[in-house]
Amino acid sequence: MTAKIIAVANQKGGVGKTTTVVNLAASLAHHGKRVLVIDLDPQGNATTGSGVDKSSIESGVYQVLLGEAEVKDAVVRSEAGGYAVLAANRTLAGAEVELVQEIAREMRLKNALEPVLNDYDYVLIDCPPTLTLLTLNGLVAAEGVMVPMVCEYYALEGISDLVATVRKIRQAINPRLDIVGIVRTLYDSRSRLSQEVTEQLQAHFGKQLFATTIPRNVRLAEAPSHGLPALAYDAKAKGTLAYLALAEELLSRK
Ligand code: ATP
Ligand code: MG
Repeated sequence: MTAKIIAVANQKGGVGKTTTVVNLAASLAHHGKRVLVIDLDPQGNATTGSGVDKSSIESGVYQVLLGEAEVKDAVVRSEAGGYAVLAANRTLAGAEVELVQEIAREMRLKNALEPVLNDYDYVLIDCPPTLTLLTLNGLVAAEGVMVPMVCEYYALEGISDLVATVRKIRQAINPRLDIVGIVRTLYDSRSRLSQEVTEQLQAHFGKQLFATTIPRNVRLAEAPSHGLPALAYDAKAKGTLAYLALAEELLSRK
């Protein structure tokens, strides 16, 4: 079986992209899946949150994008998460500038992943909150986009921007790209606004809206400071269970 590549993206910042990548990866690994996390954000939060020391990275996604390393040589293991990581650190911000002069610069990640596709069941890509050349590499490599969103008043506008971006990429370079699903994060089921936004999402996106919601849960926010996915930090926390449920929903979709 060849890997399903999912980019986790939303141009809006702080909506739980990185939290979703790390915890969905750990949850899929818990279900016996072989998972690779790719950290495409120079902030390196998915790297740190997986328990990988950013400063110790010899080669990571930066070297891969520039053709200086093969994915199989650059991956490291998240012991706490049970998955592989193609790590990022601040040098990745420089890749942006250096890539601009390269040929097929938006195809770099896609091409680099080709030789390892049989080694994984899922590849989850953590995208930065901007539509940079890095994000573009993620969206070109992926077959699906998972969109975490917070049910706020302006959230739907953000989503329509992303839907427009996905459509453009599908037309121009990656015809197989589709929205895998929208995940409601930092969710408060008692809030009237959450319910209203949910109704609109159901009307617009139907089955593309994941039924599983991720609640606001302090254990999810604490876990990264220990370099642990929530599953390894507090297996019983509401947030942990929510991500396990999200993984099950994703697996059941096939
Ligand atoms: P950026 O756009 O900066 O990359 P992001 O979309 O990746 O942000 P995260 O870094 O995952 O968002 O989350 C933003 C902050 O909210 C972090 O401090 C994170 O720990 C916290 N957070 C995310 N999801 C939850 C949740 N369900 N419950 C509580 N805190 C959360
Ligand atoms: Mg992030």
